[in-house]
Amino acid sequence: MSKQYETVIGLEVHVELATKTKIFCGCSTAFGAGPNTQTCPVCTGMPGSLPVLNKQVLEYAIAVGLATNCDITRYAKFDRKNYFYPDNPQNYQISQLYLPICRNGGVEIETEEGGVKTVGIHEIHMEEDAGKLIHDEWEDCSLVDYNRSGVPLIEIVSEPDMRSAEEVIAYLEKLRLIIQYLGASDCKLQEGSMRADVNLSVREAGASEFGVRTEMKNLNSFKAISRAIAGEMERQIDLIESGEQVVQETRRWDDARGESYAMRSKEDAQDYRYFPDPDLVPVRVSDEMLAEIRARQPEFRNDKMKRYKEEFAIPDYDIEIITQSKHMADLFEEAVALGAEPKKVSNWLMGETLRLMKEKEVEAEDLRFSPEHLVKLIGLTDAKAINSSVAKEVFEVMFEENVDPEQYVEEKGLKTVNDEGALRKAVEEVIAQNPQSVADYRGGKEKAIGFLVGQTMKVMKGKADPGAVNRMLKELL
Ligand code: ADP
Ligand code: MG
Ligand code: ZN
Repeated sequence: MSKQYETVIGLEVHVELATKTKIFCGCSTAFGAGPNTQTCPVCTGMPGSLPVLNKQVLEYAIAVGLATNCDITRYAKFDRKNYFYPDNPQNYQISQLYLPICRNGGVEIETEEGGVKTVGIHEIHMEEDAGKLIHDEWEDCSLVDYNRSGVPLIEIVSEPDMRSAEEVIAYLEKLRLIIQYLGASDCKLQEGSMRADVNLSVREAGASEFGVRTEMKNLNSFKAISRAIAGEMERQIDLIESGEQVVQETRRWDDARGESYAMRSKEDAQDYRYFPDPDLVPVRVSDEMLAEIRARQPEFRNDKMKRYKEEFAIPDYDIEIITQSKHMADLFEEAVALGAEPKKVSNWLMGETLRLMKEKEVEAEDLRFSPEHLVKLIGLTDAKAINSSVAKEVFEVMFEENVDPEQYVEEKGLKTVNDEGALRKAVEEVIAQNPQSVADYRGGKEKAIGFLVGQTMKVMKGKADPGAVNRMLKELL
């Protein structure tokens, strides 16, 4: 490569909102129901049916806008975006073009060099999701499921402010965290509740104009996004280097093959014949409504980190990790509120929880054990009712099935045996059966006792307190 290039990236992020019902009708948004069981004349586009805006959608959109430093539009409107596709029964999507609910925002991300940079948000608008086409069921036709038709979305359109895959991921993580803290969506890329389209162009370093961009769809993980960015950057640079031109188009990234292919030439707003939806009244956002939503905003990560530092004696590293997930922060705070020692709760989160999350590929938002059960487990260990290896064993079952640890320990007979006589018997047996180790220990090899402790634990089927075993061994040796 002879010249230096700069990559310019802007994102369009769609987020499915966590409302119980759809954006313009009362149908359920619950996931996984039988095909077309959650539909009505409105969300299947029947003539004569009328949409009514779900207030919760507006409130979530405003809350996200406030949290991302946007101006909230006080007089917003819905527009029809016209296009034909079988997953879109009305032949138009209700969206917002002229007066979107939020504008001119931005979020701060940390750059690789350790600095802070603002990624601008051009606008956030409300719109409806489309249905789902199922192509592989039968060979000669496609099926359509309208359960998703009319599920509320917000689309967050960034400015072309990002310059690398790392910045893109940092921006997406920031957005996801804000939205999860708000409870406005679970933002799962794999399941499609958060979807990012990547607009990318390259230009010679120092150039003042942007290059021609492409838009990539079908990116359902951070890894796929990073790979797609690397692949598209290279493709565009190769084109320019060989004297060809980048064509403005929509491309689909095939993550398995590691390459993208053209889907369609990019359409402009005028191709969609946008016009104001005559069935929906404009939205007026009053001062009261805005004040109410503002007052309900949760404590976001930065404030939470500050408060944790003041309130809890736990390391900064733990605070970083815990506050990276709303669910984990809630777990932590609830367990502490139930009386557990903060450091002990944090130890379970930083240790076994993170280990099992990695091993079983579970995300923090999907942790299933309750704070009550974690507190009970800590209580059992504190009272020496179970030893630490049994506690880990119980925790793993809690992690999988949220069992009540007290009940589980009782049922499985995992309680530490505190019977002096039984322990003495076991130790005597081990001493008798391991003359070599006993001789080593007596001859000054302190370490030999570890083996004898282990053997005794085995005889006790793990249900002894290692400290007590140690003491008993020393006494009898
Ligand atoms: P459209 O409405 O045609 O999709 P927009 O102007 O709304 O186009 O931009 C869509 C997204 O593309 C935005 O996130 C924007 O930041 C990004 N974008 C626009 N121009 C460029 C460019 N030259 N290079 C990279 N991204 C761009
Ligand atoms: Mg667009
Ligand atoms: Zn409906």
